[in-house]
Amino acid sequence: MELVCDPSVASLYKSSPQRARVISEYWFSQNGYCLACDSDRLTRAAPNTRAMDFSCGNCGHRYELKTFTKRPPRSLVDGAYAALLERINSSSAPTLCLLGRDQSWQIRSLTAFHSSFLTPWVVERRPPLGEHARRAGWVGCNIRLDRIPSDGEIAIIENGRCQPKSEVRTKFKRFLPLEGLSAGQRDWTTLTLLAIRKLGKARFSLSDLYECEQQFAQAYPGNRHVRAKIRQQLQVLRDLGVLSFEARGSYLVVS
Ligand SMILES: [Zn+2]
Repeated sequence: MELVCDPSVASLYKSSPQRARVISEYWFSQNGYCLACDSDRLTRAAPNTRAMDFSCGNCGHRYELKTFTKRPPRSLVDGAYAALLERINSSSAPTLCLLGRDQSWQIRSLTAFHSSFLTPWVVERRPPLGEHARRAGWVGCNIRLDRIPSDGEIAIIENGRCQPKSEVRTKFKRFLPLEGLSAGQRDWTTLTLLAIRKLGKARFSLSDLYECEQQFAQAYPGNRHVRAKIRQQLQVLRDLGVLSFEARGSYLVVS
């Protein structure tokens, strides 16, 4: 994997955002690989395809690429809210790839945010653009990176070093079975896993999680079945190999 981008590919472009897009997309087309299968090639999407920049010709997995010199810690501005939500609801959300680079286009990091954790709760609707805006009434969205559990954030390049491809794919493929669940179910899986990671315990009890009920209530105000949902998601996470069930009401974090 080449760890420097070639700015000359954007010599015909003047505006900085456009140049950044052309340069980073060219690099990704040459160096990106599929995380969901063993294909080493990704295909560029047709221009203006909604909520997708690249896809895998082998398995069809989708990717959206963003480039930064300084990564936003909490929230990422994305495109049209409705288009992304439609993809999420039809289990065709893209995996978000964040390319971190310095001013001379040396690549510092490439981080994938797993499509399975792109859920309705993670995608925040922004207020419509005001009536004087060029696209008055248009509704964009923010992707709340702080709502994605650490499991869904997978380093491909970290501190300027490529991570072994097989390890990256193993970490990624582990959560692919979630794509078989509805978007609403995945919301609860995401919330539950986030709560477990926040506990930071190797072993925890059901009552530890019930104490985090407030976090769930914020996402789903008025839901009267929070505890039942939590228990259901613990089974999902056990099936994924994240947890094992010990004695009644006690859980061991496997990895
Ligand atoms: Zn693939």
